[in-house]
Amino acid sequence: GGGAGSGGGSRFDLEKETELRFEVEAGERVQLELLSGLAEVFGSELNRNKKYTFGPGSKIAVFTWQGCSLSLSGKTEVAYVSKDTPMLLYLNTHAALEQMRRQAERENERGPRVMVVGPTDVGKSTVSRLLLNYAVRLGRRPTLVELDVGQSSVSVPGTMSALYIERPADVEEGFSVQAPLVFHFGSTTPGTNIKLYNKLTSCLAEVFSQRCEVNRKASVGGCIINTCGWVKGSGYQALVHCASAFQVDVVLVLDQERLYNELKRDLPHFVRVVLLPKSGGVVERSKDCRRETRDDKIREYFYGFRSTSFYPHAFDVRFSDVRIYKIGAPSIPDSCLPLGMSQDDTQLKLVPVSPGRDLTHHVLSVSCVEDDAEAGESRSRGILESPVCGFIVVTAVDTQAQVMTVLAPAPRPLPRHTLLIMDIRFIDLK
Ligand code: ADP
Repeated sequence: GGGAGSGGGSRFDLEKETELRFEVEAGERVQLELLSGLAEVFGSELNRNKKYTFGPGSKIAVFTWQGCSLSLSGKTEVAYVSKDTPMLLYLNTHAALEQMRRQAERENERGPRVMVVGPTDVGKSTVSRLLLNYAVRLGRRPTLVELDVGQSSVSVPGTMSALYIERPADVEEGFSVQAPLVFHFGSTTPGTNIKLYNKLTSCLAEVFSQRCEVNRKASVGGCIINTCGWVKGSGYQALVHCASAFQVDVVLVLDQERLYNELKRDLPHFVRVVLLPKSGGVVERSKDCRRETRDDKIREYFYGFRSTSFYPHAFDVRFSDVRIYKIGAPSIPDSCLPLGMSQDDTQLKLVPVSPGRDLTHHVLSVSCVEDDAEAGESRSRGILESPVCGFIVVTAVDTQAQVMTVLAPAPRPLPRHTLLIMDIRFIDLK
């Protein structure tokens, strides 16, 4: 339990294999300090006598394998110590993956490709982070594949990405996101355009496999794929598609026995499907809470972590200087489709958009595709399958003057001129 600590905070003495769980109140900050012993936050080790700050809404577990003393100051919604955690099972999972990497090394094979699945709020992202941290702490170089378009840990929402992990996640900020490979999906649920979602999953799998062919460490490190919480219908089919696109070896199913049984039935027999319990500490997040996290992620893209590191730029862009597209034509009944055209074609179609006032506040992805790429069918495919090099937000549209004002991470001009609209809006209140 808590007591007065040295720095005015509450002191918690933890026995081995227990964790301190806390949530930070809205509008508050909490400081954490390791006074003695060893402890980690989702697999990242804490330094002793360093103050870690967690912002409003953070939900944190500080776990200790050996026992430790902690000090916590600031307003927490809850703060308690739990002895009942699945960490030993997670550690065993890591150990099994590490065995596979050793074997891969010996036999000149590839390391484990792991997919983490389960409904929302079961700790998928947390388990992914833990396994990546444990791997990189042993000198491995795993890749995080982030397919959760609602709550991406790598880039802004509405994207699908891959990140080569070279160091443990920062306790406060998470994984350092230099040079991630990011694709534009455009919405926060895969169901908005499942064809595109599956297509981009395949693109990521292909890029990852190419990297493994030229980079032995990446190949041995394998990947951890974090997925969406949508596990029924097309959401389930998307998981099966992902397993095949990445040729996964291991599927970790958190919390849901039904999903576990379905995947065991539907995936090839050589895929190891493992059911793991969720941690009692995982907190269910409300719709509002999710929206806030998404907003924070976009703000972080423009202003840096805690709005302190970057200075975004605002400037005007002439309509005539850019080409704006939306991916996916509105779906129409099969019977109304032009001859020879399928529903797939409409979902993967690039629809040119003429800017109007309704573009205001939308997030746009700046495609890496070359501006002078040839026109037509292959160019559209090029745009769909090209990564993005950044994001902008439209802050105002002047249809009379034919210009829009944008918020961008760098000064004008835009690096490229093909822009893709997201469903996602961001209102810059700074
Ligand atoms: P999912 O990816 O399945 O939606 P997350 O991994 O994002 O779930 O976890 C949901 C929330 O619970 C996150 O805010 C995370 O920080 C928090 N959380 C996860 N594990 C614990 C724990 N053991 N104690 C306290 N909070 C936790």
